[in-house]
Amino acid sequence: MKYISTRGQAPALTFEEVVLTGLAPDGGLYVPETLPSFSQEEIASWANLSYQELAFKVMAPFVDGAVSDTELKRIIAEAYSSFRHDAIAPLVQTGHNEWVLELFQGPTLAFKDFALQFLGHLLDHLLKKRDQKVVVMGATSGDTGSAAIEGCRRCDNIDIFILHPYQRVSEVQRRQMTTVLEDNVHNIALEGNFDDCQNMVKASFADQSFLPEDRQLVAVNSINWARIMAQIVYYFYAGIALGAPHRPVAFSVPTGNFGDIFAGYLAKRMGLPIDQLVVATNSNDILHRCISDNDHSKHQLEHTLSPSMDIMVSSNFERMLFDLYDRDGDAIRQLMDDFKSGTMTLNNAALEKAQSLFSSHRVSDERTVEVIRDVFDHCEYLLDPHTAIGVEAARQTRRRKDVPMVCLATAHPAKFPDAVREAGQDSDPALPHHMADLFQREERYDVLDHDIAKVQDFISRNIRP
Ligand SMILES: *Cc1c(COP(=O)(O)O)cnc(C)c1O
Repeated sequence: MKYISTRGQAPALTFEEVVLTGLAPDGGLYVPETLPSFSQEEIASWANLSYQELAFKVMAPFVDGAVSDTELKRIIAEAYSSFRHDAIAPLVQTGHNEWVLELFQGPTLAFKDFALQFLGHLLDHLLKKRDQKVVVMGATSGDTGSAAIEGCRRCDNIDIFILHPYQRVSEVQRRQMTTVLEDNVHNIALEGNFDDCQNMVKASFADQSFLPEDRQLVAVNSINWARIMAQIVYYFYAGIALGAPHRPVAFSVPTGNFGDIFAGYLAKRMGLPIDQLVVATNSNDILHRCISDNDHSKHQLEHTLSPSMDIMVSSNFERMLFDLYDRDGDAIRQLMDDFKSGTMTLNNAALEKAQSLFSSHRVSDERTVEVIRDVFDHCEYLLDPHTAIGVEAARQTRRRKDVPMVCLATAHPAKFPDAVREAGQDSDPALPHHMADLFQREERYDVLDHDIAKVQDFISRNIRP
């Protein structure tokens, strides 16, 4: 299986190469050249598989022998051994034919563990085989950083540096990162905002001359293909649990960078009968505006109660555009060039396709809080604010009552106590017991100036030989 760039001008890569890189040299994102697909009989035969067994079936065609079957099975087993629930992705019913898929049973209580636990073990395996060491560098406004650190903390061949905006991430999120004390893990609290962090990471990827000669940077944000691939699995898992392929299913996905819902779109193309895919956004609604109104224009960032979806532009949407434009790299290059002006307009064919594939809905903070309260009142189930957005969008856009609607629960409510308190809970939701002492643990991080030379110097001094 080869991987090609959405902008059509970069050489195709193998699976191993695509995992160990970031953006394509032409500025595009890598996607598989062809998509595996499974017959209805094959999907039906998976009805009794465990999450790990299913993960192997779904991912093996993408890995395509780059990792042996035995090794891939071991990597999957290790990746999901850190989850607290035997089902890995359990379903909970919240209404008539309405379900919440709990994707927060991993070590950092957010769905990003699905991809980053897997990616950490995969990188460890590939790097040992290649006798290579790399540097992982990333920026975070919260969830990505802690999940990446958890994924890489035990990897001998990785030094990981995560930048977060100093004093601008929640205390739970900061502590999840800074209480990891392994000597290959470095938290940089940057005097600046999230965009400053991200710009520094981008500039460092573009010019890696600050690194020792035998090192390169690896991206662990959702431009890394392996992350998307690992997320396809839970769509199949939930769909099959609810009767697929004999019965269609629908999904509602709290969306920021379009990574998670893009995995759902791929699951559909690979044969899972998905009747409806709902793009749920907060007031940072570029995707909702694009799908409903062909308005893909950058607006100012708003800080909401669902901070992990506070984005101005969704990086993975380019992967979707590539398919909407029949995989025409030239058209995508043109479109992304237009977008430098702050806006882009889809052609009619692409817009129609987007509208036939996705429903979309935007949810305000006010409504988010009401939904948390409402669901708690009706079934004593506490949603986190991101999940609440997915539930509300599902309820507002749902087409068929006879099709099970699965709302992806992307985080545990204990990660976002402010929203939960606003919804009328009189105490903060409890952290799961393995994290109950989070506020007593020792922290370690370095506060650095908003100065790329200082940040890069810090990194090069702290890379282990
Ligand atoms: C990252 C994140 C999202 C958004 O996921 P995308 O793949 O960026 O669309 C939603 N909810 C939570 C809790 C997250 O951490």
